[in-house]
Formats: sequence, C-alpha cells, structure tokens
Amino acid sequence: MSESKSLFSSDFAPGALSPDRPKLLVVDDQPVNIQVLYQVFSESCDVFMATSGKQALEVCRQKNPDLILLDVVMPDMDGIEVCKALKSAPETRDIPVIFVTSQDSPEEETLGLEVGAVDFITKPVNPAVVKARVKTHLMLKIQTDALRELASVDGLTGIPNRRRFDERLQTEWRACRRTELPLSLIMIDVDHFKKYNDHYGHLEGDACLKMVAHALRGDQWRARDIASRYGGEEFVCLMPETSLEDALTKAEAIRERVFALAVPHATSQNADRVTISVGVACTIPGEGEPDSLLSVADEQLYKAKEGGRNRVEGIFV
Ligand code: GH3
Ligand code: MG
Ligand code: MG
Repeated sequence: MSESKSLFSSDFAPGALSPDRPKLLVVDDQPVNIQVLYQVFSESCDVFMATSGKQALEVCRQKNPDLILLDVVMPDMDGIEVCKALKSAPETRDIPVIFVTSQDSPEEETLGLEVGAVDFITKPVNPAVVKARVKTHLMLKIQTDALRELASVDGLTGIPNRRRFDERLQTEWRACRRTELPLSLIMIDVDHFKKYNDHYGHLEGDACLKMVAHALRGDQWRARDIASRYGGEEFVCLMPETSLEDALTKAEAIRERVFALAVPHATSQNADRVTISVGVACTIPGEGEPDSLLSVADEQLYKAKEGGRNRVEGIFV
C-alpha cells in the first residue's frame, strides 16, 4: 500500500529518491516549461519528464506515475490523444491527469474533462496554485489506491481475493497472448472440508483455511505470479510465462507443503490430516476467453478428486 508516501509526512519535505515518494510525470514539448514544474516538485516528488506524447506513454508504462501534468498542445500526438490512450488502457487508466495549458477556453476545458482529466491549470503556472492542486489529487490517488488494495484482499486469509485474481487473469491472458508464451493456472481445493467443519467446528475450519493460505503465501513466487483465495475452501494461482511441467512441479510442491503442515483431520476419508487436491491447466492464450482456463483447471481438479484426492492432475490445452 502507498500510505507511507511523503505526502502525509511533513509537507512536501525534501528527501532522497525513494519508492515511497509520489511519482510525478511532467509532459511538455517545451523543456523550459518542464523545468519550471521540476523546480516546484523535485524536492517532494520523484519527477519524470517527457517531451512528446509517445514518450509520455512509454514513461507511464515504465514508471507507473501517481499523477501526470500534461501539456495540451504538442506536435504529433497532442495532450488530448495522450489522455485518451491512457484512459483506454487498464494499466494506466487510474492515473490522474491534470492538463496544463495556455488556452483556457471553456470548450477546451470541457473536452479535457470529457477525455478523463481531473483538473486544469493555466500557463504560466503559479507555483502555489499548481502545488496545492497536485497535492489534492495526489491525496485522492493515494486514498483510492489504498481502498482498491483493501477491496482486493481476502478478509479471512489476507491473500488476494477472487476479484484481484480475475483482474490479473484478464491482464495476463492478454500479455501471454501478445508474447505467445504459456499461461498456467493452478486450482486447489481442500479435501473433505465439510467434514472438517462438522467435526472441529467452523472457527477451526477458518483457522485451517488460514494455514493453507499461509502455506501458499510462503512458497516462492515470481513477481507476476499470484496466489489467491477463489472462494470457500478453494484457492487459485496464476503463473504467467510458465510451462505445464513447471506448473505441475509447483503444484506438487504446494500439495506437499500442505501435507507437511500435518493438520489433523480425524474424519477425512483419504488421510489422517488435511490434504488438498490440485488441478493444473496450461495454454498459450489465443481466441478463447480467459475463463476457459479456469474450467479446464476445474476439470483436472475433479479428476484429482475422483482419483483419490491429495493429488495433482494437469493438462496442456
Ligand atoms: P471435497 O473433498 O469433495 O472437496 O469435499 P468438501 O467437503 O471439501 O467439499 P464441499 O464443497 O462439499 O464442502 C466445502 C465446505 O467448505 C462447505 C463449507 O461449509 C466450507 N466452507 C466454505 N467457506 C468456508 C469458510 O470461509 N470457513 C469455513 N470454516 N468453512 C468454509
Ligand atoms: Mg470446493
Ligand atoms: Mg473441498
């Protein structure tokens, strides 16, 4: 979460380049204009610069800024086009954009707001005004980020929830489709969990789910992997750019990890302890829908259950 950004500490205090400082992108085809804004913000924010629309989009992808100060009139790609492009991409649509412009006609302002800008500042900029407005929008951005973070975490286990997983599945499906690399999905279901609840009680059931989530979280994951609670006693992991073979190895490691927890399950029909069954699906995304990968993993999970539980099944489709 980004609560620790320096915005909340002493008012725009100077500080070294740090991952917790707000990141500001200033876009203007005139370097002298960038310089003015750089001087206003360089002490309080990490300031990135771009002198064209195309470069602005590139910097956004690389640096993921918290706010963009965007010139309207630029050769080639103007500010309006840049803003439209930012708002149409899921990765950049939540970054607030403030237009900085010398033309302050109501028509232009309306157009800017229509394409998704949050505010307008007129040139020549007044440092106090631009500072105050940027501060307001950065606060809103940080609060929105914190809420979004909260909304994507599972309340019981503290790992990402289904909502976050579904978002990531969409994103990674598109990414792997572009790169033509395999996308693997691991679906996990606790065996005979109804019996566990019936025997030990719902609170113990909750504690058991937390332990399984902990075992999942404790495993080694790559930056783009995600392990989440899909609902009830089901968990699902996504592994972009991962072959079926590697996903099966991972799934087996998770199964062993849960087995090694040795959580007693007196009424399980397949072991003396809590176990999981795992279904793995891998594909190189194409025409189909991302949800199809979930269905395939679910079928494999069913096969693992049928085959006696506490096992892994998987397929490349
Ligand atoms: P199987 O081996 O075939 O998966 O059998 P199962 O009993 O695990 O599967 P079933 O779907 O019949 O039961 C799932 C149980 O999980 C039923 C439900 O009460 C329990 N459950 C779902 N969410 C929670 C939760 O948040 N906490 C607790 N304690 N139990 C939950
Ligand atoms: Mg289930
Ligand atoms: Mg179950």
